[in-house]
Amino acid sequence: MFWNKPMETMGRGEMTNLQSLRLHDTVERIYRQVPYYRNKLQALGLLPEDIAGIEDVGKLPFITKQEMRDNYPYGLFAVPLTEIVRVHASSGTTGKPTVVGYTKRDIGIWSEVMARALTYAGASKHSCIQVAYGYGLFTGGLGVHYGAEMIGASVIPVSSGNTARQIMLMKDFGTTVLACTPSYALYIAETMREMGLEPGDLTLKAGIFGAEPWSERMRQEIEDRLAIKALDIYGLSEIIGPGVANECACQDGLHISEDHFFPEIINPLTGEALPDGEKGELVLTTITKEGMPMVRYRTRDLTVLNRSICDCGRTLARMGKVLGRTDDMLIIRGVNVFPSQVESVLLGLGETSPHYQLIVDREDNLDTLTVLVEVTEEMFSDEVRRLEKLEYKIKEALASVLQVTAKVRLVGPKYIERSEGKAKRVIDNRKI
Ligand SMILES: [Zn+2]
Repeated sequence: MFWNKPMETMGRGEMTNLQSLRLHDTVERIYRQVPYYRNKLQALGLLPEDIAGIEDVGKLPFITKQEMRDNYPYGLFAVPLTEIVRVHASSGTTGKPTVVGYTKRDIGIWSEVMARALTYAGASKHSCIQVAYGYGLFTGGLGVHYGAEMIGASVIPVSSGNTARQIMLMKDFGTTVLACTPSYALYIAETMREMGLEPGDLTLKAGIFGAEPWSERMRQEIEDRLAIKALDIYGLSEIIGPGVANECACQDGLHISEDHFFPEIINPLTGEALPDGEKGELVLTTITKEGMPMVRYRTRDLTVLNRSICDCGRTLARMGKVLGRTDDMLIIRGVNVFPSQVESVLLGLGETSPHYQLIVDREDNLDTLTVLVEVTEEMFSDEVRRLEKLEYKIKEALASVLQVTAKVRLVGPKYIERSEGKAKRVIDNRKI
């Protein structure tokens, strides 16, 4: 099922032409209307006419989250506030949030790319879509909401939290599509089981899950426990919110809405462009946005690009599932460690629950990594020998994948705090 077939199946040559025209317009706009960008381009001796087509994108400077903070709140807006109809912000871990603004047309584009995401998941005007992402300054809730309205589905804007009520509404209202973070989807499944409900008691068919990286193993777990098709959705407020890239039923990469967002993969250390298929940091350029265009935004997300035609018939380039973030990446005794690697190992062994947490400390100038892993009630009350054996098994499996030794601590059910949004996977106690 297509939402916008001409765009989703456009030939590569035609897409390149469209992207070239749109990039040129974007560069003109930021040069004229955003002094911060103009200064950056002038510092490199660049004029808008130097960017003739998409092949010139590499001449343009990158922009980072820090630069957004430096321009807080409205310094990167390319239109007067009278043209801005919506403001969102992402919470900074320290200090001020980063702010984004949308014109009426930007909201239309966002709804369009979200309509695609939902259609890829099989949703239509016959669907009942429960939006369990948070509503508010966070883009998740309202992003899915507008896309769901655009396709004419019945929207249940429940927002995040109050899990027992979520489940009651899913059951009573006949929800067919669930949208939330993957960790919250698992939490819902767990609560359902405690309430004595089976997946068959619901009418749920599909879920679109995003806002945090998750593994193939976790997908399997969610699909089994909720008896649904679980699709990945990628987005970030800096670019537009959810809907930048969306998985189709083939579950083999997320189609980037390339007619609006131009993707590149770079080496995060050197900034040089990498060829398709090589893993690196995703850089995105908005080529249609009016309110706050972003040119070569460093997403910090690690992935790969694939421009081959998908089995679904779409020609839109695909990005792999996000493998981690360059700033989520832990460096432990000089070795790069991603929480997603730990998740894959645990789910691969299949003897624990999918809840885990990484704790990093520094003792006598040496980094230590402890992985907390939850086990089931039966397991936890089992004999100590069996638990020790499992601990050892996890430790061995982690060491071979991470190339670094980790302590493993098995903990009882619900020991690790549950989140209704993004799961807190890492506690770094090192004072660096
Ligand atoms: Zn596809």
